[in-house]
Amino acid sequence: MVQLIDTHSHLYDEAFDEDIDIVINNALEKGVTKIILPAIDSSTIERQKKLSASYPDIFYQMIGVHPTSIKEDYRKELDVVYNEISTNADSYLAIGEVGLDYYWDTTFAHEQQTALITQIEWANKYQKPVALHVRNAYTEMFEVLEKHSVDRRGVLHCFSGTLSDAKRAVDMGYMLGIGGVVTFKKNELAKIVAELPLQNILLETDAPYLAPTPYRGKRNESAYVLNVAQIVAEIKNTSLEQVAETTLQNAVELFGI
Ligand SMILES: [Zn+2]
Repeated sequence: MVQLIDTHSHLYDEAFDEDIDIVINNALEKGVTKIILPAIDSSTIERQKKLSASYPDIFYQMIGVHPTSIKEDYRKELDVVYNEISTNADSYLAIGEVGLDYYWDTTFAHEQQTALITQIEWANKYQKPVALHVRNAYTEMFEVLEKHSVDRRGVLHCFSGTLSDAKRAVDMGYMLGIGGVVTFKKNELAKIVAELPLQNILLETDAPYLAPTPYRGKRNESAYVLNVAQIVAEIKNTSLEQVAETTLQNAVELFGI
């Protein structure tokens, strides 16, 4: 059996309240032995901590404020998160998910940038990588990253940019997070993955969202990272073992697990 890591999974979400033990067991049965939990905002910190504490060998945590949680009160959100990272820095292996999301709403576009830059400063202060959420804002994201370099780099999670965005990210030393979308019929991402070095790919689910084929539309869970790995192996014309080994190594190096 191959060993896999789900580098982005919200298993502390209410969607898993009823059957989290089964979900974890499903993951272990598929060889998914490590799962990284990205934060959303102050409202998810306690749920995430509780889940990690019950399975300390499996879970690793991130901390940060997601761009869609950046509203009028974003400074308060940042304060809560900063308080957490400054008192428990060792509990978190990355700052995330943080970023820019101009897809749903651009009302707080400026605040999103300010919050992102602040959180990049924390990443550098605590020497952590970042997990970036970017939607409809790749140009703006690259502008921020060029001006505010992240020492330990990071991952563009759930990558949804163009091939040239992907190449630019790779040139800057970033990883691309590849999940369920790559398994969908007629997706541009498969073409991008075909061009990318395996050394720049991390596998993720983003559970409970974006379940891969054949579970599309259903609740996603960490076990399905195996389906993503299988498709990536097909696209890159290599073995599942090779994909598992390289992407696991990529995650170990980036996050220092
Ligand atoms: Zn996410």
